[in-house]
Amino acid sequence: MRLKNQDLYQTLENIVGIENIYFDELLKNHTYIKLGGKADVFITPTNYQQICEIVKVARNNDIPITIIGNGSKLIIREGGIRGIIFSFKKLKNIDVIDTNIIAQSGADLITVADIALEHELTGVEFACGIPGTIGGAVFMNAGAYGGEMKDVLSSVLVVDVNGNLVKKDAKELKLDYRYSNISETKDIVIEATLTLKKGNYEDIKAKMDELTIKRNERQPLEYPSCGSVFKRPNGYYSGKLIQDCGLQGYRIGGAEVSKKHAGFIVNVNNATANDYIALIEHIQRTVKAKFNVDLEQEVKIIGED
Ligand code: FAD
Repeated sequence: MRLKNQDLYQTLENIVGIENIYFDELLKNHTYIKLGGKADVFITPTNYQQICEIVKVARNNDIPITIIGNGSKLIIREGGIRGIIFSFKKLKNIDVIDTNIIAQSGADLITVADIALEHELTGVEFACGIPGTIGGAVFMNAGAYGGEMKDVLSSVLVVDVNGNLVKKDAKELKLDYRYSNISETKDIVIEATLTLKKGNYEDIKAKMDELTIKRNERQPLEYPSCGSVFKRPNGYYSGKLIQDCGLQGYRIGGAEVSKKHAGFIVNVNNATANDYIALIEHIQRTVKAKFNVDLEQEVKIIGED
């Protein structure tokens, strides 16, 4: 635990309760690819007020804050993360009002898609296999098979850098391909409202089944990964470029370019973050040399060496 003093530590504990604060929590247990060192202070708030108060304490004491959702887009280095890590795994409530789904940031996107089906609401079928949380999906503007969060998100509730609760229209997030301006505003998403359309159970179910079959056929779901490693470059597909460089099966340490989908790097044998990073750089260099295309990372690499 590397926070400055015991009083500060006590202040945080008083805000969230001893059962919601963990020291030196191993982050590999919170990421999809099973990588990551320790978090100084890992906090699982149970209400929005706690988040506001902690942000204020952090701001007054210069403590960095990092947010982790399901860790399905994150590579965390072995040195771990300094400061406070928020996890919203205890904020998973989902309500349905008319054609709106109001989900707390820790809710799983897959559960949201299932609830939309139950209520015969259409628009979020694309999300049925994306293993992120609502917060992570908003941050990333997650999408698949022609749909994305931008199509269905109407508003969000965030805690801003000053610790205030603010409602924002989705347009204010400037959602674009795997981008939201939250990376710049440093807002913390705590709730999202998706506005869907009334549909028909059989049609929605058929669409979700079709997408699930496609996903199972094409993606190496049998191994830990963090989904597509690179963004789609203009006019190309990153997977195809990597495949055409003959890199499928190429391995550094325990990280391997998937033989099933070249856009994925899979953890085949206790990979380290450095294995992943070295492999990402090797792929970028190889694709640049052969096709003169720059592959931009979609995965987020954070933490200390
Ligand atoms: P994390 O990985 O935990 O975090 C991602 C980023 O979001 C981090 O910068 C984090 O700080 C930030 N963040 C998380 N929560 C919040 C919050 N509440 N407030 C502010 N910032 C926050 N993605 C797609 O778009 N389409 C796909 O089809 C797809 N398929 C995938 C398949 C597999 C097998 C895997 C492993 C991943 C796939 N992904 C896909 C990637 C991933 O699931 C999405 O990007 C997802 O939206 C990330 O959500 P998360 O909760 O895991 O976020």
